[in-house]
Parts: sequence; structure tokens; C-alpha cells
Amino acid sequence: MANRKHNFSAGPCTLPLEVLEEAQAEFVDYQGAGMSLIEMSHRGKHFDQVATEAMALSMEVFEVPEDFSVLFLQGGAILQFSMIPMNLLHEGHKGGYVNSGTWARGAIQDAREYGEIYTAWDGASCDYTRMPSTRELAIQDNTRYLHITTNETIGGIRFPKWPDVEIPLVADMSSEYMARPLPWEKFDLVYGGAQKNLGPAGMAVVFVRKSILEKTNRKIGRYLRYDIHESKASMFNTPPVFPIYMFGKVLKWMKKHGGLAGMERRAADKAGTLYGAIDSSNGYYRCPVEVACRSHMNVVFRLPTEELEQAFLEEAAEAGFMNLKGHRSVGGCRASIYNALPGASVKALAEFMADFQHRNR
Ligand SMILES: *Cc1c(COP(=O)(O)O)cnc(C)c1O
Repeated sequence: MANRKHNFSAGPCTLPLEVLEEAQAEFVDYQGAGMSLIEMSHRGKHFDQVATEAMALSMEVFEVPEDFSVLFLQGGAILQFSMIPMNLLHEGHKGGYVNSGTWARGAIQDAREYGEIYTAWDGASCDYTRMPSTRELAIQDNTRYLHITTNETIGGIRFPKWPDVEIPLVADMSSEYMARPLPWEKFDLVYGGAQKNLGPAGMAVVFVRKSILEKTNRKIGRYLRYDIHESKASMFNTPPVFPIYMFGKVLKWMKKHGGLAGMERRAADKAGTLYGAIDSSNGYYRCPVEVACRSHMNVVFRLPTEELEQAFLEEAAEAGFMNLKGHRSVGGCRASIYNALPGASVKALAEFMADFQHRNR
């Protein structure tokens, strides 16, 4: 297809082309209904089928055990920063948080408004270039959950191994959602915004262990209560209709491409290509992240000078490699290579990097 660029955006970001085309084909007249899916009631038969299928497929593709429910909520991942402590923390409970970078700090900041929160590990001392090992975690008594950010989108780090702790884990998986398997027995709640691996912006996908819903806090507004969303199958109010519809299509695409194992393999291959390009550049490109914790989704790298970084970004954009600028808080470059980004885009970028180095020694 003409005019599709190599899009390394950190989110919203590349979606599978076949998903976009399918949605385009049925957008104006959904399955002969004479109206678009986004023009009809969310309680009608068409949308009911779409939502039911997306729920079932999300459990299947992400290999989620039956004692979890999936919720489709609005407010993105950031609303979950508040909903989690509001629902889960009672009097006498503490929330333990791993401070692994920008997004974890956001989760900590919001949680402090609702309960007793402490930092179980702070990555500031290593400038957020790695994740902690289990023995580095300082877990206090009466901790209800340990919150982790499995992949820090800005710092470009991920947990190589899951923390092995006695208390339940709660995880923000926004930027590596459905890109690697999870040991579900360790988790009470897993959440993330849809707009990185799963679909368009406008929805958070939350997996919550059913047995904890009996004990969640009821003294909060109804939209903020997990138990209500669960009992209404995410139809308590008008759900994010379009994101749910697109998510269903992305899930079918994931299934067709090998499911979770397929996504994990694709990610490892693409990340391997880019880190290979960095590591074989004799120090021209540098990745500040500890090797074991390198993200398979957000590859951050620097060039020898900021002038060269500027030239690199400009020439890359001219050559069709878009959105490679690092987050404004850290600078440098970042290639986000989420599930739907084709391997060919990553190979082409690796070649461009070698060529740029050759021309700009
Ligand atoms: C993008 C991102 C968020 C913010 O998500 P919103 O849906 O915009 O609220 C939170 N956490 C992580 C790890 C992210 O990558």
C-alpha cells in the first residue's frame, strides 16, 4: 500500500494494515445494518456480538485463567493508577510500588492520594536503567499488593524475570500488553491502555481476579468500582465502542499470527535486529539500558552528539522512518516496535542506521 511509512510511534502507534482495511470496508454500513457500528446502540445484537467476542478472544489470546474477568474501561491506564488503590486498599493496608521510571512514578503519585504507599525499590540510583531482582525488593508488613510497571515505555526497560514475592502483583503492562506470557497465579490485576499493542486510544483493558471483587471498596463512585463493571460485563455505562471493535480485530490478527507465542517471537526477533545494529556499531549507537533488562518494545539509543541525533532524526524522517525521537524528558532516540510493526520496517531501520553511521563518522 502506497504512502504507509515506517511508524515507530510510542503510542498511539502502528496497527495491522489488514485490520485498518477491514474496518474501513465495513465502516459505513456494518454487516448490512444500514448504519455504522458506531452509530448503533451498544445494547443491540451487533455490538453485543462484537463485545462478547472481544472478551472471549482476549482471554484466549492472552491465555488468561478462568478465575479472571476482563474489563473494558475508559480513562486509559492513568485512571487505573487511582482505581487500583481506591478499590484494593483498606484501612491498615499498604501498597508497595516499584519505582522503575516515569510511568511507575505516575502510579505512585496518584496512589498516595488514596492510601499508605511506599516504594519497595527505587531505580533512581541507577538512573532507571534496569529493573530490580526479587532480593532487592523491600516488602513491608501488611502490603496488599506490589505494583510493577512491566515495561517502562520511556526508559526502555522491562522485567527479564517476574518478582518472586508472597504478596499479589498488580501490573501496568500498557507498552508490552499481550507481547509475552504471564504467570497469572502471581497476579491479582493486570491493566494497560489499549493504544500501544491492542488498538486505538480510548480504552484500558483490565484483567482482575474474580475472588478479590468481594472485598473491594464500595464507598466510591460507581464508575470507579471494579465489582460493578464486572457484574455488568463492562456495560455499566456506554463502553468505548470503537476501541472494543478494533481490539476484537487486532485479537483475531494476533491469533492468526501465532497468538502470544507468535507475538513474543516476533518481538524478540525485531528487538534482536535493532539491538544487534546498536551493538555492532562500535559504540556509535549506545543503549543506556542494562542488557538483561532491554525492552522488546521500546528500543532507546543515543548517537555520539546531540547534533548527530538531530541530523539522524531529520534524515530518518525523510527516508520514511517516523517518530524516532526519544521522549522529551530524556532526549535521544527511541524506536517503538510494538506487535503490529512489520519486521521489514525494523530491518530497513537497522540498514538505515548502518548507512547513516557510515556517512557521518
Ligand atoms: C502509555 C502508558 C501509560 C498511559 O496510558 P494512558 O492510556 O494514556 O492513560 C501508562 N503506563 C505505561 C507503562 C504507558 O506506556
